[in-house]
Amino acid sequence: MRGGRVAVVGGSIAGCAAALAAVRAGAAEVVVYERAARRLQDRGVGLAVQQDRYAELERAGYVDAAMPWVRLTRRVWLLGDTDARGGREFGVLPFPFRSYNWGSLWRELRARVPERADYRSGAAVESVTPDPDRGDVPRGAVLRLADGGEERFDLVIGADGYRSVVRAAMYPDVAPQYAGYLAWRGSLPADRLPGPRDAWAEQDAATVAFPGGHMIAYRIPGPSGRGTSVNWVFYAVPPDVPGLRLDDPTMPPPRTVAAELFEHQEKLVAAHFPPYWREVVQRTRAEDTLVQPIFDLAVPHYAKGRLVLLGDAAAIARPHTGGGAVKALQDATVLERALRSADGFDAGLAAYDAERAPIGRAVLELGRRLGRAQVLSVPDWAAMDQRSTEEWWRAASEGERGFGGIALGR
Ligand SMILES: Cc1cc2nc3c(=O)[nH]c(=O)nc-3n(C[C@H](O)[C@H](O)[C@H](O)COP(=O)(O)OP(=O)(O)OC[C@H]3O[C@@H](n4cnc5c(N)ncnc54)[C@H](O)[C@@H]3O)c2cc1C
Repeated sequence: MRGGRVAVVGGSIAGCAAALAAVRAGAAEVVVYERAARRLQDRGVGLAVQQDRYAELERAGYVDAAMPWVRLTRRVWLLGDTDARGGREFGVLPFPFRSYNWGSLWRELRARVPERADYRSGAAVESVTPDPDRGDVPRGAVLRLADGGEERFDLVIGADGYRSVVRAAMYPDVAPQYAGYLAWRGSLPADRLPGPRDAWAEQDAATVAFPGGHMIAYRIPGPSGRGTSVNWVFYAVPPDVPGLRLDDPTMPPPRTVAAELFEHQEKLVAAHFPPYWREVVQRTRAEDTLVQPIFDLAVPHYAKGRLVLLGDAAAIARPHTGGGAVKALQDATVLERALRSADGFDAGLAAYDAERAPIGRAVLELGRRLGRAQVLSVPDWAAMDQRSTEEWWRAASEGERGFGGIALGR
C-alpha cells in the first residue's frame, strides 16, 4: 500500500494501534475519530497480557518494557469454607502474565501514534456509507460525523468497540449477544489492602471461587504508572432487576440500576468469601467500581470493500480469555503487515481477513467454554484438589490453547 486517506473510528487500544499500523503501512493521511472528549487514560481498571504474546507484540514494535507492568506467575484458587483468613487454597495453576493499568497502557499506545496522524477527541462518527461499487472495485467510504460534517476516505478502519458503527455498515444484522452474566469490576490502591502485608503474594492472581461464579484479583501498576493498585473482577449471574435490559447492547450501561446489582454482589461476598477477600471488596470505593455485561460477538469477515474491523468491533474476547487487548494489538500488527506487503488495499485487506477472522471465532469459542466452566456451570469447588483443578482447567481451556491469546502466525 502506498498513500491513501485512512480513517480510524475509535481511539482506544485498538484505535491507537490501528493508527500506528496505517502510518507504518504507508498511508498518506490518517485521521482518528474518538468520541470521548476526556482522556481515556482515566479508566482505572487493569488487564493482563500473557508473556509469550507480549514478546511477539514487542518484536512487532507495538509495546515495550518501559510500559509499567507487574509480573504475575501463579493463579491461586481459594474457597471461603474454613476459618482461614485468606481462604483455603485448593489449587494453583501457572499464570505467566504481565498486568497493566488500562489507562497507562492506553497512554503509552497513544504516545506511539505518530504526530502526523490527526487524533481528534470528542469526534463521534454517526454512520459510515461505503461508496457505491464501480464494477467490482470498491472505492472508499464516507463518514458522517455527529457535528453534521462528512468526510471521504479510501479506507475506514473500525476500532470502535462492541457497538461499532463501522460493523453496522458492514453487517447490519450482527449484534453482540448477552452471555447471561455480568462482571463487577473494582480497583483500589495497594496501600488500602487489609493486613497482614504478606497475606497475598505480589505475583499471585488470587481467584475466590463460590457457587455460581468466581472473583479474580491481581495487582496492576498505579493509575499514573507509579505505585501499585489492585484490580478485581467478580463474575456471577445478576438478579432480576426491573428495567434492566442486558440482552440489548444498544442500551446504555446499567448505571441507573447499579445499586441493586452491587447489593447482590455484596450478599454473595458476605455469604461465601474468606474474611481477607471480603475486606478487599469492601475497601473499594463505590466510584472505583463498575458493572460490565459480558457479550459475545464475531463477524464472518473482518473486511468488506474498503471497510475493515479490528479489536472488539470485530470479535469480543470474554475477559476470562485474558486476550482482548492482545487480540486487538495483534489485529493491528497483522493489518500493518498485510497492507505493507500487498499491491493495494484490496489484496491487503483480503490477506488480513483470511488470517484474523478465524482467530476471532476461536477466541469467541474459548470465552464461551471458560464462561461455562467458571460461572454458568461451575464444578463442586469444595470437592476440588490440585489434581482435579489441573484436569478441570485443561478441559475448560482445551489445554490452554488460546488462553492469553493465540500465537501470531509467521
Ligand atoms: C474493564 C476491562 C478489562 C479488560 N481486561 C482485559 C484483560 O485482562 N486482558 C485483555 O487482553 N483484555 C482485556 N480487556 C479487553 C480489552 O481492553 C479490549 O479488548 C481492548 O482494549 C480492545 O478494545 P477496543 O479498542 O477494540 O475497543 P474499546 O476499548 O471499547 O474502544 C472503542 C473506542 O471507540 C470509541 N467509539 C465508539 N464508537 C465511536 C464512534 N461512533 N465514533 C467515535 N468513536 C467511537 C469509544 O469511545 C472507545 O474509546 C478488558 C476490557 C475492559 C473494558
